[in-house]
Amino acid sequence: MEVFDYGIIGGGPAGYTAGMFLAQQGYSVILFEKDKLGGTCLNRGCIPTKSFLHSSDMYAEAIRALQAGELTGSINFDFSKVLEKKDKTVETVRKALELAVKNCGVKVVYAEACVSGENTIKTSEEEYRVSKIIIATGSKPREIKGLEFDGKFILSSDDVLNMQTLPKSVLIVGSGAIGIEWARIFSNFGVETTVVEMAEHLIPIADTEVSKRIERIFKQKKIKFYLKDGVEKISNKTITLKSGCIIEPDIVLTAVGREAVCPSCGSNAVLGDACKEIMLAHYAIQQAKEFALGIPCDKTLIPSVIYGEPEIAWVGLREQDCDESYTKILLPVTALGKAWCDDATEGFIKLITKNNQICGAHIISKEASSLIHIILLAMQNNITADELKKVCFAHPTYAEGIFETLIRM
Ligand SMILES: Cc1cc2nc3c(=O)[nH]c(=O)nc-3n(C[C@H](O)[C@H](O)[C@H](O)COP(=O)(O)OP(=O)(O)OC[C@H]3O[C@@H](n4cnc5c(N)ncnc54)[C@H](O)[C@@H]3O)c2cc1C
Repeated sequence: MEVFDYGIIGGGPAGYTAGMFLAQQGYSVILFEKDKLGGTCLNRGCIPTKSFLHSSDMYAEAIRALQAGELTGSINFDFSKVLEKKDKTVETVRKALELAVKNCGVKVVYAEACVSGENTIKTSEEEYRVSKIIIATGSKPREIKGLEFDGKFILSSDDVLNMQTLPKSVLIVGSGAIGIEWARIFSNFGVETTVVEMAEHLIPIADTEVSKRIERIFKQKKIKFYLKDGVEKISNKTITLKSGCIIEPDIVLTAVGREAVCPSCGSNAVLGDACKEIMLAHYAIQQAKEFALGIPCDKTLIPSVIYGEPEIAWVGLREQDCDESYTKILLPVTALGKAWCDDATEGFIKLITKNNQICGAHIISKEASSLIHIILLAMQNNITADELKKVCFAHPTYAEGIFETLIRM
């Protein structure tokens, strides 16, 4: 019987990245996936939601241009085409991934698998011998008591991808990355959107100034939100919040985090969401890089991105984590010519520094998801604020906002 060097359970970003890097180094790798390669990220998370985002943005952008008189005529969207495009995107990216994994020499077995011994992995059909086991079984949507998913009225982030028509109104429970992203998608499409959050502010894990700005933006966009609140009671489709408010949405999207799927792991390596640390695809990939290539994974330098409108991104210390020895510099996005050209002047770039070192960055802006990497690169390589100022930033860009922020130090 062939003995593989590595047996990996789970074909999401953690599993396939580790598998590909190990195979590239000459190890024999067998990977078990019970559903589709790409895991949550590619099939039910990062990729399909960004496809929805793009479609909804195009529509909202066209409406804005119509109102400004730059476009004329009437604008409509065909939701069936939005769904078609999302499915096609996922399928295209998945095919490319399947090919890349195959080309690396990873053997993929499409079956549910479990650890059956110190060096064995079992499916319903067969048992495989491996020298080392990696568990990369990912996570699933967290359900809360009283709000059990039924796929019709109370939806998980998986269910919402399969809705065939848009609701007229939605209640989103939770204002983390998934809740904020869907608030953007729904409100772009003109769905009456309400968010309920149990914490004091939207995006409770963010810098408080960021959260407060997002609350202001939500008000401008007429996205209703309730803070320090939650669902008390559901009767038919009538929802009573703890505060006593009554909401009657067409659907409820519960986005209150995810639960690790971790079968008994023994002393085996656990990577990605299954290890219950930071539940992000790029953290899963970073962990796989650490495991397979020995590239250290510094948890303090993992960027966070939330695809709100505008995008929100941060890394490092938040203002509420800092004492007076830190300096805060903030540049409103209105300072950037490119932002005016793009009609995207909402937001700011905020840097937190100490002794000329950048210790934190919090950005609300178009392209924030890319901008954060400039700061990340500086922080990871101890590039001081003064050194970063020496870089020639192209004009007009959002990136030059980083220079503009630094010179205000
Ligand atoms: C709506 C949504 C949007 C998201 N957006 C982003 C984003 O923009 N950026 C970001 O960084 N992260 C995002 N995430 C999070 C990201 O998807 C996860 O962090 C990432 O997928 C974790 O990768 P993983 O490999 O650990 O697990 P998963 O991607 O969950 O993969 C685990 C795989 O293991 C398989 N599996 C489980 N048990 C078994 C078994 N016993 N046998 C065989 N196979 C098994 C599963 O079928 C699955 O394919 C989003 C998540 C959601 C839900």
